[in-house]
Amino acid sequence: MIPCTAPSCDSLTDLDAYVCGLCLGRLDGDLADVADLAEELDTTIARQARTGMPVGSRSAEVGLPYNDGAAEVGRDLRSVLSTWVRDLWETHGPRRVARAAGKANVAELDPLDLDDTLAELAAWLRRHPSWIECHLAGGELVDEITDAVERARRAVDLAPARVYCGPCPDCGADLYARPDRATVGCRECEARHEVEALRAALLDAARGHIGTAAEIARALPRLLGRELSANSLRTWARAGKLTRREPDQHGRPRYLVGEVIDVALATPVRSRVTRAESQPA
Ligand SMILES: [Zn+2]
Ligand SMILES: [Zn+2]
Repeated sequence: MIPCTAPSCDSLTDLDAYVCGLCLGRLDGDLADVADLAEELDTTIARQARTGMPVGSRSAEVGLPYNDGAAEVGRDLRSVLSTWVRDLWETHGPRRVARAAGKANVAELDPLDLDDTLAELAAWLRRHPSWIECHLAGGELVDEITDAVERARRAVDLAPARVYCGPCPDCGADLYARPDRATVGCRECEARHEVEALRAALLDAARGHIGTAAEIARALPRLLGRELSANSLRTWARAGKLTRREPDQHGRPRYLVGEVIDVALATPVRSRVTRAESQPA
């Protein structure tokens, strides 16, 4: 057993694997969402083109009639997916032995037959979990793909469709509340709980942890119910509002989650209001 190679994962992997079961499950869930997300991205791009809504600073400057944000995020997602498909294929794909004239036999990689759409790329990746699990860079793959999917979710304004509220106090099942609801019902035991109390308990439990700016920016917005970028964290650190803690194994500074929460709550939100933020905190 070796530690999972995905950044910010402390789980151990199975024998000969580089990615743990938890991360593989997380990746599979995200890949399963890609087909829907691809449609949502198209809709977002088209809607903004029709209504001539403000389309983000860069496209506004050059007057492009589409939402550069959603288009760009879609291109990024495609490029991340196809890069890893190619990488996996080159590492594990079937090879034929070809006879080169006058030379030793060479192994030639079969051509990869696959449509270059987001849905096809994601479906292909879902069919090859064991290739991912045994890939030396599997942790990096999980990190990059889950990150790109998360950015796509934000671009189509789905996030956070459900707010994670931690385990049910009665039965332990994971609770996900709709952002506009004050209570959440447990699917397992049917008990109802106050969302705010659950979220406050989760935030309290998170306070003692440390993480890199990227890790915290990924986890905290859903709990806090507001946007929080890794850049804001770095800015706060430079301004002396956050203490840099012991760096991770790649030398990236880490921060205490409790300190980040306090600074975030004391700082007015400047970014656009999302569905979660429009609810009373
Ligand atoms: Zn893992
Ligand atoms: Zn329950």
